[in-house]
Amino acid sequence: SNSRKGSAPSKMAVKKKIAIMTSGGDSPGMNGVVRACVRMAIHMGCDAYCIYEGYEGLVRGGDLIRKMEWHDVRGWLSEGGTLIGTARCMAFFERAGRLAAARNLISQGIDALIICGGDGSLTGADRFRAEWPSLIEELQASGEFTAETLEHYKHLNIVGLVGSIDNDLSGTDATIGCYSALARICHAVDLIEATASSHSRAFVIEVMGRHCGWLALMAGVATGADFIFIPEKPREDNWREEMCGIVDHHRKLGKRKTIVIIAEGALDRQGNKITPDMIRDLLADKNGLGLDTRITTLGHVQRGGTAVAYDRMLATLQGVEAVKAVLDATPETPTCVIAITENKIVRKPLMQAVQDTKKVARAIERQDFDEAMSLRDAEFSEQYRSFMMTTAVQMNEHLMLPEKERMKIGFINVGAPAGGMNAAVRAGVAYCLSRGHEPVAIYNGFAGFARHHGDKPLGAVRDFDWLEVDGWASKGGSEIGTNRELPSESGMETIANLIEQYKFDALFLIGGFEAFHAVCQLRKARDQYPSLCIPMTLLPATISNNVPGTEYSLGSDTCLNELVEYCDKIKQSASATRRRVFVIETQGGRSGYVATLGGLGVGASAVYTPEEGISLEMLAADVQHLKSVFAQDKGQSRAGRLILINEKASRVYTAKLIADILRDEAHGRFESREGIPGHMQQGGVPSPMDRCRAVRLAIRCIQHLEQFGRNVHNRVKTDPMSATVIGIKGASVVFTPVQKLEEDETDWPNRRPKAAFWRDMKEIVDILGGRPQYHHPE
Ligand code: ATP
Repeated sequence: SNSRKGSAPSKMAVKKKIAIMTSGGDSPGMNGVVRACVRMAIHMGCDAYCIYEGYEGLVRGGDLIRKMEWHDVRGWLSEGGTLIGTARCMAFFERAGRLAAARNLISQGIDALIICGGDGSLTGADRFRAEWPSLIEELQASGEFTAETLEHYKHLNIVGLVGSIDNDLSGTDATIGCYSALARICHAVDLIEATASSHSRAFVIEVMGRHCGWLALMAGVATGADFIFIPEKPREDNWREEMCGIVDHHRKLGKRKTIVIIAEGALDRQGNKITPDMIRDLLADKNGLGLDTRITTLGHVQRGGTAVAYDRMLATLQGVEAVKAVLDATPETPTCVIAITENKIVRKPLMQAVQDTKKVARAIERQDFDEAMSLRDAEFSEQYRSFMMTTAVQMNEHLMLPEKERMKIGFINVGAPAGGMNAAVRAGVAYCLSRGHEPVAIYNGFAGFARHHGDKPLGAVRDFDWLEVDGWASKGGSEIGTNRELPSESGMETIANLIEQYKFDALFLIGGFEAFHAVCQLRKARDQYPSLCIPMTLLPATISNNVPGTEYSLGSDTCLNELVEYCDKIKQSASATRRRVFVIETQGGRSGYVATLGGLGVGASAVYTPEEGISLEMLAADVQHLKSVFAQDKGQSRAGRLILINEKASRVYTAKLIADILRDEAHGRFESREGIPGHMQQGGVPSPMDRCRAVRLAIRCIQHLEQFGRNVHNRVKTDPMSATVIGIKGASVVFTPVQKLEEDETDWPNRRPKAAFWRDMKEIVDILGGRPQYHHPE
């Protein structure tokens, strides 16, 4: 397409015909995959094809295999399901079907195949790959193709992408679609909780997952459910007593609602199915708990709708990676599947991933549940422990530490509110209580801490009330209050004295850049104030995601969801007027993360970040680009186009000014408007990802503090690990000393990390948006 003038493909030499298909159950994000693959393939100078109706299309061929152009996938990021269709295909289980598939690929000249689907689809892909040489032999023997033609197709270049709502493939932390399904589930549970509480009812909620309990587990963690049932880890034989015991305990504490989440595939240790009816009967038993109990089976709503921001990002980045993998492949490279480990997109051998997944199902059949759990990724079993820790609080004697190891830990929120702050506090408190620690709430940040004695108390220092805290799992904002003030502003001496007065053994901070700055100050002040020689750690929480030491902060996922939803609506509103560009101002401080990831999620035409700045030349190039886009637009576009600009991208060019410039330059060819979602970006109810990560990371933080124990002033003074930030960096979760961060990794004037790990994503937004590559004059 001409709209892509100026972005020279960098790999013209290897022109390939790359086909993309979606298969198995549909999942949100599949359309994002297709869009990314089609456009990246074209960008790399290749031809892109779509195979409609999954393996059915591959077997039947004909017009189910279609060449795709750049504009064919416009707007697909915001669409749910899969627009190229998917189907169950019996024929592909047979060799004859796979032979037909090979024939269709070769006769269309297609030499690479990208398949996005669940474990069944990838098993089929792996089988196809393994059998390929013999299929080629057969096609040659039958004389359908000459040996010369077949020479080019000796190796099937195939790459897998995991699209599934179940998150059931071993080797990847998340499948494309699973966080969208989780969002639907958590939304439903949040709604049910209100009515459950009102009537003091119990609800048994059945979620999808025949062999995989990821959805049930994560929904349990995110909503703070009372009990869960998953296939990989059946409860002990006394599960009836155990469940009733926990529910009874919670009810006695004063809880008015009971939520039990069960995966479709839930089993007991003997391999017998556990059904929602069985659970209802137990909870409702007149001789036992006698709760008014209802069953809700969520069913297909879990698949529904448009993808959350995370799935759009995953779909886009993995789609791009799949095309790169296709182009990198040699006959020697093993066939790969694109996976994600923590925050890092990686290629893994397809065969291995498929085999490991099969092993889980077999282990469950054999009732070897330890094996089944060990085959799931590390996050899965960690989250399982997190769930147990935060639900059956103080019910496990063996978790209690000996008296002398128990600590008094101060909890404090610093900076602006961010989704997940409350979930983190809740999990931290639960963990503390389970271990015998004393968690203490410091209300309203350092400002509240310093001034809660005076005439006008601003905050308070109080023990947590577990019943109250237990209700915070899905609450937005900050229940203990947060404040931007730094310890230096509150008075370092006052803070140091208070820490001494309250005999805190450790400090757990949750917050954004101010919180990071606060830890740096407290650490530096240790020389002067010995009471500050206690271990302290920060769990980053800010929508701007600008805290050094991590690639992810709590609240940033919630923010991106809000932003993407807002942009989708704005974009659609243009469908009547058609030719309209919206210039949307995003939050993010001096970090372009939110704008860039938002742009990735909505398919922005341009993204302006503080890191890059905005120049007159850049604007001029984008105006030209938009003009040519609209000039060629023969009415096929049904929605507007978007430009995302970070609030601090430029001191001169604001969203409004850019919109005005565009309108003026367009000479009536298109319209332009600005939009500012503002504080809406903080989100209402935090996203499940923010809530689940809050739980997991908060527990890790307390465990980290716990290692130090009490009265360790001298050790703390010399150990850099005594003042840290927890973070997700690439493929791992790590604690980094603030000393290292403040000295080496922080861009202080701009209040952000020196390195922006998401830089490459900016380039991808530009490539997939068809934006001409703008080169800065050095
Ligand atoms: P999900 O479980 O998320 O719905 P899936 O990809 O696992 O997705 P399946 O229905 O198991 O969905 O598989 C989709 C298609 O893949 C099948 O209809 C079939 O065409 C093909 N397929 C699955 N397993 C095999 C196999 N062992 N051999 C050949 N083809 C297979």
